[in-house]
Amino acid sequence: MDEIVKFLLELQKIDSRIDDLKKRKTTIPEELSILRKEIEDLKKEKEKFLEEIKEEILAQKRLEHEIESLEDEIEEYRRKSREVKTNEEYRAMLQQIEFAEKKKEELEEALYKKMEEVEQLQQEKDVKTQEFDNLIKEKESLINSLQKELNSLDDFIQEVEEIRKREIAHIPQKELLLYERIRKKRGRVVVNVKAVRDINSNITGYVCGGCHAELPTQFVNELKLAKTLKRCANCGRLIYWDEEDL
Ligand SMILES: [Zn+2]
Repeated sequence: MDEIVKFLLELQKIDSRIDDLKKRKTTIPEELSILRKEIEDLKKEKEKFLEEIKEEILAQKRLEHEIESLEDEIEEYRRKSREVKTNEEYRAMLQQIEFAEKKKEELEEALYKKMEEVEQLQQEKDVKTQEFDNLIKEKESLINSLQKELNSLDDFIQEVEEIRKREIAHIPQKELLLYERIRKKRGRVVVNVKAVRDINSNITGYVCGGCHAELPTQFVNELKLAKTLKRCANCGRLIYWDEEDL
């Protein structure tokens, strides 16, 4: 292969490295903000879960208080029932007591249910909290490494640009200008010839590796012989012949 082809291919590799690094400069901040949002959501979710437990415990306490005051009430009715004068008053009082006892029973049932729920939540609490904390930690460490990567990107880009400077010193001005011009328009500048094959893998023709336009046999033969670059008549890219990579 022609020396210039090798240098241009190397330059192309360097340029695509620089492109990738510059792209990272915009994608990393996007990834960072997504991660920060995810951490925020996880913290809110954890807070909500803990709040739920607190509320359930409060609900349990409320039930306990209600039962206690019902017991006081019943006690009071009993005391009064011993003081009533008529049978009618006595029956009315018994009815009150019965009513209060029934309500107490209902509340006790609700309390047992609530206690079970609270117990269940208390058991889940440690595991779930740990899960939340682990997820948050994972994302925080990801943020750390992305931040580090972002901080080192500029130095890295500069380094590769230094390498680029050394590389272009090997390339004649005319080819370099052509390369830059095509790069602006097409991105990838130097492409290989691609073989077109039939179902038996026999080569039936050749196309440009950039735009896939068909290449005339004469054009391909010249490329094969000269082992240098020719321009694609369709896209203008620089085409080379590489037997190994058809
Ligand atoms: Zn082309």
